[in-house]
Amino acid sequence: MPKPRVIYWFRTDLRLHDSPALAAALELKPSCLYPIWTWDPHYVYRARVGPNRWQFLLDCQEDLSKSITKLNPKSKLFLIREAPQTLFPKLFKEWKITHLVFEKDTDAYARQRDEAVMQIAKKAGVEVIVKVGRTLYDPDELVKQNKGKSTMSIAQVQSAGAKIGNIPRPIPSPTSLPDPGDLSLSFSPERPEETPDFNASHRESQDKSYQELSGPNNDFAIPTLSELGIKPATSPHRGGETLALSALSSILSDVAYTATFEKPKTAPTDFSPQSTTLLSPHLHFGSLSVREFYWRVQDIVTSFKSKGKKPSEPPTSLTGQLLFRDMYFGAQAAQGYAFAQTYNNSNIRFIPWHLPSTISPDNSLITGSYHVDDAQAESYFRRWKSGTTGFPFVDALMRQLRLEGWIHHLGRHMVACFLTRGGCYIDWERGAEVFEEWLIDHEVACNVGNWQWLSCTAFYSQYYRCYSPVAFGRKWDPEGAFVKKYVPELENFDKKYVYEPWKAPIADQKKWGCLVKGDGGGDESEATKEGLKNYPKPMFDFDTQRDICIQGMKNAYRVGLYGNDKRVLDGTWRTL
Ligand code: FAD
Repeated sequence: MPKPRVIYWFRTDLRLHDSPALAAALELKPSCLYPIWTWDPHYVYRARVGPNRWQFLLDCQEDLSKSITKLNPKSKLFLIREAPQTLFPKLFKEWKITHLVFEKDTDAYARQRDEAVMQIAKKAGVEVIVKVGRTLYDPDELVKQNKGKSTMSIAQVQSAGAKIGNIPRPIPSPTSLPDPGDLSLSFSPERPEETPDFNASHRESQDKSYQELSGPNNDFAIPTLSELGIKPATSPHRGGETLALSALSSILSDVAYTATFEKPKTAPTDFSPQSTTLLSPHLHFGSLSVREFYWRVQDIVTSFKSKGKKPSEPPTSLTGQLLFRDMYFGAQAAQGYAFAQTYNNSNIRFIPWHLPSTISPDNSLITGSYHVDDAQAESYFRRWKSGTTGFPFVDALMRQLRLEGWIHHLGRHMVACFLTRGGCYIDWERGAEVFEEWLIDHEVACNVGNWQWLSCTAFYSQYYRCYSPVAFGRKWDPEGAFVKKYVPELENFDKKYVYEPWKAPIADQKKWGCLVKGDGGGDESEATKEGLKNYPKPMFDFDTQRDICIQGMKNAYRVGLYGNDKRVLDGTWRTL
């Protein structure tokens, strides 16, 4: 029997440590191993990806490539610039491939792509090996053990997980890698079809990444941001397995922090350092194995307990956080594409979002004369996105998100609640799109699931519990240091006014160098004339607006429509 010739297809697993799929590829004892990344136009154009997440991805690829080369100087991460669906049939033939190995991905688009690739492989007589490694449990198994349903609570994950068995222990990194085979390619790249470019606003020049199959120098190199035409990143957070493992070790060296971690007690306003692990982008790109993270924490917890000390427990503990991640993967695995939208989704409550100018406190789903003020809702959305709502805590968080690509979980709670049921009454799907573009840890399952949670459309239903943009920030950071860092217009304001600057006397505003005036849309002339900065007035009275939202939610809950209800699909809900 000739020895196997294997392609290892890196996607959600940019690491060498604890990779069950890579281990399976090596178990084949191949005569050659091609570690490759295919540059999928879906991610380049159709997914919304800002410069910070691009940079994080390129960092992960660079680091992985170097680590591969350390194990075999003839090898590296070979980047090929073509969609996998069109590339693989040619590659299989040209490189005489016998096996294709990759980590399982249950995202809706990935399933569709992988199904197509598996068909292609079958036709070419190539054996495909797929291994689970992205989550604690296989999301499909979780669903199966949850009676075929989406996992909608931690308790369901724990109970389904117990039926699956123990979470596998991490496996060691390989100590050597086989040579790649012949790398010549006799075909030209198939250019992606014309496709809407959701990342056009992040480009400063034309995308040249598809001009050559193996890069401009024919060396399968990782493209630069400039080759992709993408503007420079602004985030201080960088990617790569080396950084991820050293960050994990450094965090876990604090045994008490690790064993007694309680998420609700961590401050969303801490920034130097942040109060949680900030490992989410590494988990997203697979530069850190989630099972490595889980077991290293769990072993610390076990040893802590054995000394008679009391550790924290799921759901608030660190391992509890990882169970939340699995819960959203399970929910997505069961629902596929429908998961990310309300329309035709039986799991999501239908709320007639968009800002009714009034929601009268009667029992109707809407008022008799339902009036959506589109222009007003659009203005609220724009101001939320640009961090100019006039509520400094919300604005600081949105500016941190845009600049750095990461904000604390409770900060995400604040801005998501504010945009939807606790302020603007705007559809969660619009907020999720902004997060998709800006987060460096953007994960479809976690982003969509958490937006559903915060908007009380799924997972959570206590819509009367809203976050105040004044009291919530002040609770964590009475001095307002976080606000002052990201909203420097207010840097000289007394702490008494930093969360409500509009209440400061004009004389004090002038003394502190910033006039609170206008709507953030350029009404700065008076401030500029006086050599002052400008910060907008709040875009609405929060208490009034929150009450309107709660009334709207109450009515919607009473009527109780879901996304797949006939009356939602045909628009007759308006008469309810
Ligand atoms: P830690 O508190 O240190 O937790 C450790 C790990 O557990 C995280 O790295 C993450 O992988 C996982 N985790 C923690 N909380 C959650 C949670 N609620 N849901 C799922 N996983 C969790 N997380 C993402 O990874 N990608 C997203 O796109 C994303 N979008 C979100 C959108 C909204 C509106 C909200 C409210 C939350 C979102 N989260 C998302 C969840 C959570 O905010 C982040 O995972 C967390 O803040 C990451 O920081 P950390 O690594 O310091 O977390």
